[in-house]
Amino acid sequence: MDEQRLISTGFRGDEDETEISLRPHSLAEYFGQQKIKDRLSIYMQAAIARREPLDHILLYGPPGLGKTTLAGIIAAEMGHSIRVTSGPAIERPGDLASILTNLNAGDVLFIDEIHRLSHAVEEVLYPAMEDFALDIMIGKGPSARSMRLDLPKFTLIAATTRAGMLTSPLRDRFGISFRLELYTPEELAVIIERSAKIMRIDCDHDGALEIASRSRGTPRVANRLIKRVRDYAQVRAGGRVTDETAREALNMLEVDELGLDRTDRDMLETMIRKFGGGPVGLDTLAAITGEDAATIEDVYEPYLLQLGFIMRTPRGRVATPPAYEHLGLAAPLPPVDAPQQTKLDI
Ligand code: ADP
Repeated sequence: MDEQRLISTGFRGDEDETEISLRPHSLAEYFGQQKIKDRLSIYMQAAIARREPLDHILLYGPPGLGKTTLAGIIAAEMGHSIRVTSGPAIERPGDLASILTNLNAGDVLFIDEIHRLSHAVEEVLYPAMEDFALDIMIGKGPSARSMRLDLPKFTLIAATTRAGMLTSPLRDRFGISFRLELYTPEELAVIIERSAKIMRIDCDHDGALEIASRSRGTPRVANRLIKRVRDYAQVRAGGRVTDETAREALNMLEVDELGLDRTDRDMLETMIRKFGGGPVGLDTLAAITGEDAATIEDVYEPYLLQLGFIMRTPRGRVATPPAYEHLGLAAPLPPVDAPQQTKLDI
């Protein structure tokens, strides 16, 4: 289901090639996330001046916000290579050992979805991060002994959508940790204008802003929407993307003015109509949308929470009055024991 979703933030599938060409290669081309960039450039300058590798960095936040991109930029700015892998790809401790022993001094090792590393692999990572050492066992049974191998001094950059799922020994080993925030429409408009230029799309500022405000605060979504709007503009509007063409194209694709698509609206509407606005448990939401619970938490919720359309409570998710309003539904009556009710009774 996710693969059909235009506004899905996590899908990388067949768009990888253009995504790579749209990926910024320097901090100057990486828009938004200003606080992170300010701190990062200080840490990088200091490390370069000391001729030391950068401390290990943890990047966390919803998918599509630029974690992988930032890791590549850090390696480039430090003048070193990057090796990219992911938690699920490193199945055995031996896999990680071979990656680590093939690094050169100063290299960046990027591990995406670090929260999915197995416990056994994590154990190998601890001494590697802390002492740049690899403990290996030689032999088997009673004659087995452990040997320590020195590793080149590298920088681990790890990304996760779920910082809360990291074990604390792992989390504690990152000297630097950054939480990426959703982008503002103005920031996304700049990103869209840059992408349009690379793809030779004729897009004016208002057009970029219109697409930006429907991109859920996420560059990956923004880059996908500009491509679909381009198609529409090409066929219906002589190739020029203006706010009007963008609006028409995205309305046709059922991405509304806040960036919600049919799946979001169905989910909210079901919460409201069938469950009186909630609380609705995560598993029920997963059943309503046909997505797994992790996708709901990583992909749908951050934006709906930011819009203030849902709230997280210990008993589940609750739809808020702005969500009712957005869907054109009557807002719920205040609870019976609320003060307003008492006033009405008088
Ligand atoms: P994540 O690793 O967080 O899922 P990515 O780094 O793969 O996200 O970013 C998704 C796409 O969004 C990239 O292809 C890149 O083109 C674009 N992008 C992300 N962040 C920025 C940014 N700050 N400026 C410009 N483009 C960005």
